[in-house]
Amino acid sequence: MRFGIISDVHSNIEAFTVALSLLSERNIDEIICLGDLVGYGASPNECVALARERIDKCIMGNHDSGVVGQTDISYFSEYAAKALIWTVKAMQPEKLKFLERLPIRLDFEQFCAVHSTPGNPKKWEYIFTSADAAEQFKFFDQWICFVGHSHIPAVFTQSGKAIIPVVPFDKESITIKLHKEERYIINVGSVGQPRDNDPRGCAVIFDSDENTLTFMRFEYLVSVAQKKILKSGLPQFLAQRLALGI
Ligand code: ZN
Repeated sequence: MRFGIISDVHSNIEAFTVALSLLSERNIDEIICLGDLVGYGASPNECVALARERIDKCIMGNHDSGVVGQTDISYFSEYAAKALIWTVKAMQPEKLKFLERLPIRLDFEQFCAVHSTPGNPKKWEYIFTSADAAEQFKFFDQWICFVGHSHIPAVFTQSGKAIIPVVPFDKESITIKLHKEERYIINVGSVGQPRDNDPRGCAVIFDSDENTLTFMRFEYLVSVAQKKILKSGLPQFLAQRLALGI
């Protein structure tokens, strides 16, 4: 099976559209989204509509949880909270219903999928380091756990290694071979608000026959997404950061 695994779309329809068209060119059997369809960007309704149409399985992120009132606004940073209030007002009721019903964790034969951590997915903690990852391996039985949330692509092994999958600017993707004797926690980065100083969107392909993981980076119309943010009255910084990948 070939899985397309993406996360953190964050109401960025320009980036989301490109991510899905890239995956559709690459023989994907199933597309999974690890949450945060909305928040920060200016196109929440469009992103939910496209997710419904094209994503096979979607889980809930902290921003999705926030807009449907399941995570208190006090959890969020200043910019995230401002965007959350804007998003709640902008969203159509039936789109909110879709977010409200998203599961918090999905388990497959070879992997599990959560937004933040498998240990306590609704506490919305981050896995930034090998030490953070080390504590999480006991909370899943499968070979791999896919996560999002930090917007920083990374591969953590149970033996304590951290691999940062940097895709050079003159390349579209890099492929990493996975080993059966190792276990992994894999952050798939962010489609719509990357924070690893690379403004290109990120999407991952997991090939469970070849045991490979491909990190793809793609260009999209950042300036269009920025203009929509500025026009909507969302904080300016949310537009600026898209060009910088921060
Ligand atoms: Zn996020």
